[in-house]
Amino acid sequence: MDSIPSVCAAIRAGDRRAIARTITLLERPRADRAERGQPILDALVSEAGNALRIGITGPPGVGKSTFIEALGLMLIDAGHRVAVLAVDPSSPVTRGSILGDKTRMERLAQRDEAFIRPSPSGGTLGGVAQRTRECMLVCEAAGYDVVIVETVGIGQSEVAVAGMVDFFLVLLQPGSGDALQGIKKGVLELADGLVVNKADGDVRALAERARHDYERAIGLLRALTPSWRPRVLSASGLTGEGVADVWKMVLAHRDALRATGEAAARRREQTRAWMWSLLDEGLLRAFRSHPQVAAQIPALEEAVQSLQTTPARAARALLDAFRSD
Ligand code: GDP
Repeated sequence: MDSIPSVCAAIRAGDRRAIARTITLLERPRADRAERGQPILDALVSEAGNALRIGITGPPGVGKSTFIEALGLMLIDAGHRVAVLAVDPSSPVTRGSILGDKTRMERLAQRDEAFIRPSPSGGTLGGVAQRTRECMLVCEAAGYDVVIVETVGIGQSEVAVAGMVDFFLVLLQPGSGDALQGIKKGVLELADGLVVNKADGDVRALAERARHDYERAIGLLRALTPSWRPRVLSASGLTGEGVADVWKMVLAHRDALRATGEAAARRREQTRAWMWSLLDEGLLRAFRSHPQVAAQIPALEEAVQSLQTTPARAARALLDAFRSD
């Protein structure tokens, strides 16, 4: 097995196999991860942070992978190196992945300047999001200067992804803007930009109308920051039309937030929140595995369900047990 410094050197040199193996290590159960994965991450963390991080969400079928491939190829042609990661909490109903297992972004995957990694599978959304953040750090240390994090626009995963990127982009269908197409208002509130996708062929006019509708809808929302009003564009991942304008919007947003110092503030706040989410997970794990707590959980859960005690009293009893040593 290669030494940790030699793995780090390979990652810094952009060796995709070393990157992939390290990410696999970080996705393993805790013991393996602690022994080799974590020291690599610790060694690389100070070299990360130099990429522009873009989150992309949208309902299944809106054209996310087609759009990301078009954007990725355009960026590579302009000299960038692009990593594409995913946060895909498996469907609670089917337990299968929602982004799909089909081979995605084949043309992009063939390029040396691209690194594509599917979502870590299984586990809680929090766990999947943590792994993806770590994956992002490894890719940044390896010199990828644009990191795209994709997720499905149907649940809580958008919040997790918006909390790890510089720019959060929502892709929409060219249907009526009024229907909001299953995209929740909360997701629109997270958006730094919206794109009515598939604006090509016969649906161009429809897409333009939808763009106006969304522009109006977004105008009614409170802006996330005084230095940026979310913009609504139309584009086609299939023909590539409008994709360059989406990139220009991302750069305009970066420049606007850099000028006011908000870009750095947003990163700082995200890092702080990340620490707390690691603490939340670690504390809950320690709590549930504490012997006195674990021994009392079944009886107290039953007592709460049968209304023999209140949730507050049961929670207090468990916290007292946890603090008892
Ligand atoms: P995802 O599920 O959001 O990743 O969507 P895909 O990228 O897999 O695309 C879903 C379907 O829409 C596929 O049949 C694509 O060929 C089609 N599609 C994707 N982007 C466009 C586009 O810009 N224009 C048109 N007309 N079709 C598109």
